Amino acid sequence: VIEIGQPDRSVVTTCAYCGVGCSFRAEMKGNELVRMVPHKDGHANHGHSCVKGRFAFGYATHPDRITTPMIRDSIHEPWRAVDWDEAINFAASRLRDIQARHGRDSIGGITSSRCTNEETYLVQKLVRTAFGNNNTDTCARVCHSPTGYGLKMTLGESAGTQTFDSVMHADVILVIGANPTDAHPVFASQLRRRLRQGARLIVADPRSIDLLRTVHADEGLHLPLRPGTNVALVNALAHLVVAEGLEDQDFIKRRCEPDTYAAWRAFITDPRHAPEATEAVTGVPAEQVREAARLFGNASNAAIYYGLGVSEHSQGSTMVMGIANLAMATGNLGREGVGVNPLRGQNNVQGSCDMGSFPHELPGYQHVAVDELREPFEQAWGVTIDREAGLRIPNMLDAAVDGSFKGLYVQGEDIAQSDPNTRHVEQALESLECLIVQDLFLNETAKFAHVLLPGSSFLEKDGTFTNAERRINRVRRVIPPLAGKADWEVTQDLSNALGYPMNYSHPSEIMDEIARLTPTFRGVSFEKIDRLGSIQWPCNDEFPEGTPIMHVAEFPIGLGRFMQTEYVPTDEKSNSRYPLLLTTGRILSQYNVGAQTRRTRNSFWHHEDVLDIHPQDAEDRGIADGDWTGITSRAGNTVLRARISTRVQPGVVYTTFHHPVSGANVITTDNSDWATNCPEYKVTAVQVEKVHQP
Ligand code: SF4
Repeated sequence: VIEIGQPDRSVVTTCAYCGVGCSFRAEMKGNELVRMVPHKDGHANHGHSCVKGRFAFGYATHPDRITTPMIRDSIHEPWRAVDWDEAINFAASRLRDIQARHGRDSIGGITSSRCTNEETYLVQKLVRTAFGNNNTDTCARVCHSPTGYGLKMTLGESAGTQTFDSVMHADVILVIGANPTDAHPVFASQLRRRLRQGARLIVADPRSIDLLRTVHADEGLHLPLRPGTNVALVNALAHLVVAEGLEDQDFIKRRCEPDTYAAWRAFITDPRHAPEATEAVTGVPAEQVREAARLFGNASNAAIYYGLGVSEHSQGSTMVMGIANLAMATGNLGREGVGVNPLRGQNNVQGSCDMGSFPHELPGYQHVAVDELREPFEQAWGVTIDREAGLRIPNMLDAAVDGSFKGLYVQGEDIAQSDPNTRHVEQALESLECLIVQDLFLNETAKFAHVLLPGSSFLEKDGTFTNAERRINRVRRVIPPLAGKADWEVTQDLSNALGYPMNYSHPSEIMDEIARLTPTFRGVSFEKIDRLGSIQWPCNDEFPEGTPIMHVAEFPIGLGRFMQTEYVPTDEKSNSRYPLLLTTGRILSQYNVGAQTRRTRNSFWHHEDVLDIHPQDAEDRGIADGDWTGITSRAGNTVLRARISTRVQPGVVYTTFHHPVSGANVITTDNSDWATNCPEYKVTAVQVEKVHQP
């Protein structure tokens, strides 16, 4: 039993965990947050919540929080606590010194999908003004960057097409590479409600996810594909849609480019995409693919939801385009109950991408190479912006190892833990002359830092998050910043110390600037969000109260563009030395690398990551339930306790990545998406053997 005091006031704010973006009333007694109550008027959650948003807020006041800035000359020296001015000036002078010796492009900045829109906007502005280059990136690089690329190429906008509520109009729901029950629980509840009303479910996933147990066994259709074969499967589905005359010709004629459609049709009807031909690749019996294609193609309203099991592959961008092709071919866009719906992982993945954090795009996905898109920013900011794209995170890390990249500002991301091939990341961080880490905790990345700037939690600042349905929600300050400054104020101070003046007095002024410079945000303001409760962008003169469903009349590019999506096998292949394929995911009570949830009572529900292994594979290796196993890949090795499970198919093993001690990224490889460099976290060839307790 947890004793709580009676609250004397409450503040409505937004959960800082997943991309559902639930609204909560943070109930306070004096200066103490006593509980988080799901807000019944929340537009994304309608009064519902999960165990993360409801209970896992204690990290914000955990004793591990860093509340004093710290500096050191080298990473081998102890930290020295200093005041804010000394820390900021130390950081600025080091960055300036590096640029004087190694050139303007030798430094960069990384922001986080944990931070607000206003904070991520300021970091990319800092890089493009005070740093004078485009070396800005976001942790969305390692999760949904293929979504941005793939949807922009096909539908013309890097965002999901629907509201969550739209699922209540879907007749067939195709879930690909996502596990909403654990990763997006409040949306999963809504989805399950729709399934109980009779909607049909198709799940394409190497694992049998919980959602399949929502419906009667004969109603949910599971396509248990081999990890890494998504594109072959979606091509087979599209092949059948065309072969069986299930295309929506009216939609295609009215809404899609005739030439790209004709080329795609010639491509997709090739026999190599027939389910009989792809069966050997995907492992999914042709008859099951046929049943799924008929179900999807015949539905009045068919909706597609997908997650990192789509994007975190060497063909992540190709797969996103394949999904868009399927939606266009069947006319499932532009109304309730349909659409292409990326389930964004973190609270502000959508927002951090919208805000120009990528090295090739300014806010609103405006490409730096296009003069008329770049010039308004140059005028507003009073600088010249490079027309060349800057470095992505993996490029920065490679350049650090090579010696040409020397200084890095990281706000709210633990790249040493969250990025693939941990050893390479650590080598890169160790090579830097100045690493500035702004975070809540002394994380793994901070071990390589020269400047440590205390971060602020979502409870300590004002701003906005944008959820997976493009909904801009307000974040409101509940308690004062523990270290005296919110994250946006720290970035502003660093910019001023570097000689580029920033003078915002409140995040609402930052949003006003975003609105002036970003056509899709033109009508957004804190005042309007407060008045309406939330706003889904685009919000401008044409859609003054926002846009719940996108692409109703036309696509931003006019006509939808079909893309040819050739399946190319990943380089990560199993063989006799590494015979199993490891894939990864999340569990309900924990979040990503666990920096926050492990510092809350939610740890009671999940003490360690375990390895799910099929009974046959376990028996072959003499492994019993609960045994310790050594997992070895081409990149490294780790140790996990085994859990015998038929949820994984033979030849596939699965683990979560919430505990640093197990370090799943120690064994993931350098493979990445061909278009965006999003790491291929979801396919790693491994060997598993029984070991003694570590
Ligand atoms: Fe927070 Fe996501 Fe849970 Fe909602 S579903 S409470 S946004 S973690």
